[in-house]
Amino acid sequence: MLLSAFRSIEELPGALHPAVFRVRFGCDCGEEHDGLLTHEDLDWAPLGLAAGDFLNLMTARLEPAGTELGELAAVRIKAGEWPWSFFCYPEERPRPVFPSSFTLLAATEGTVGLAVRCPSCSRLSLNLVSHPHVDVPFHNDREIGVVEHMFAGDTGATLEEFRAELWSSSFDARRLALT
Ligand SMILES: [Zn+2]
Ligand SMILES: [Zn+2]
Repeated sequence: MLLSAFRSIEELPGALHPAVFRVRFGCDCGEEHDGLLTHEDLDWAPLGLAAGDFLNLMTARLEPAGTELGELAAVRIKAGEWPWSFFCYPEERPRPVFPSSFTLLAATEGTVGLAVRCPSCSRLSLNLVSHPHVDVPFHNDREIGVVEHMFAGDTGATLEEFRAELWSSSFDARRLALT
C-alpha cells in the first residue's frame, strides 16, 4: 500500500515494544478502513529494512545492515540523502522524518496534504507535497508548500482543523534545501 493512501497515523498509548500505530487508509473499494501497523512496518519496510535494524536519520547510523535494499538505503543516508523530509514551520527549516511522524494525510490528484509532528521539536507543520515525495523513499520535492499556521501545542490539529487549513490557506512555497 502506498503511504499516500493513509489518512491518519496515530501511535497507540502505552509503552509498547515495538510501538504500534492505528492507521486509517483509503481502500480501493472506496471506503476507509482502520488497521494496526508496527513501527517497523511503517518506517523500516519501505526502505527494505527488517525488524531489529536500527537506523538513525540524524547520524546515518544503521546496524546491523539488513537486506541489500536496506544497505543501499544506508549508503544513501550516509551520503546525506534523506528518505523522507518535511519543512518544520515553527523551526523554519527542513528536517528528516519517518512516516510514523506523519499524523494526517489528505491526498488529491497531484498533491498530498501532510500534517507532520516534528521528531525534533514535537510541533505540527502542514506541508503540501507531491505523491512521490511521500510514496518514493529518497524522492524529495525541491519545493514544498508550507501552511503558515502554528498549531496549538500538544493538543494537535483535529481532522477538521487540518482540512480547513488545507483547503483555505495559501501555501507558501519553501525550498527544501537538503544538506
Ligand atoms: Zn476496502
Ligand atoms: Zn521542528
